[in-house]
Amino acid sequence: HMKISVLDIMIDCVTMQEAVDTIQRFIDSGKPHLIATANAEMVMFSQQDRELADILNHADLVVPDGAGVVWAARYQGAPMPERVAGYDLAQRLLALSAQRGYRVFMFGGAPGVAEEAKSAAERNYPGLQIAGTRSGFFSSEDEAAIINEIRGAEPAILLAALGVPKQEKWLQANLTALNVPICMGVGGTFDVMAG
Ligand code: UDP
Repeated sequence: HMKISVLDIMIDCVTMQEAVDTIQRFIDSGKPHLIATANAEMVMFSQQDRELADILNHADLVVPDGAGVVWAARYQGAPMPERVAGYDLAQRLLALSAQRGYRVFMFGGAPGVAEEAKSAAERNYPGLQIAGTRSGFFSSEDEAAIINEIRGAEPAILLAALGVPKQEKWLQANLTALNVPICMGVGGTFDVMAG
């Protein structure tokens, strides 16, 4: 598939299934990969945040998470097949993980939210192994312990719900240390799952 620039942010022209297949290949490789979900808010944010723009433009997969991004890509003539919503992609990855036995770590949200999202995920995807959970409110002194906790849990997939752009910056800064094949920012996904 090709990439298209929307306001200087490179976005992958993928369907949901192509995104899942690409992520499957990243898991098979065993090497760390950064996945981002671009909506209009993230693209606008990136106009004033050069660091975020650089991270997105070097990410391994940036899915079109938003009608505005799909529209802007198509307006330029790009074959942008469909919207790939971050929440929906996270659910597909949880289902895939239950099926294939991939371990998932859920990091982020207010205290208790990741645990509630874990319970919902275990209910919805029987057999799913959640490798660990942790709230997304922490100080810089906690970071080394958080990285050790996640790394030690050896997940295939790390879902990080710290909000934009904190989750993208944190994942990029710690990508090598975490050594998790799929590191993906998921915004408010845990809040929705927790209900
Ligand atoms: N959050 C967090 N740590 C922070 C700031 C935010 O864990 O330091 C969580 C917050 O509790 C919420 C999520 O990040 O669960 C951000 O959700 P939002 O819907 O605002 O996501 P965005 O619109 O930024 O993608």
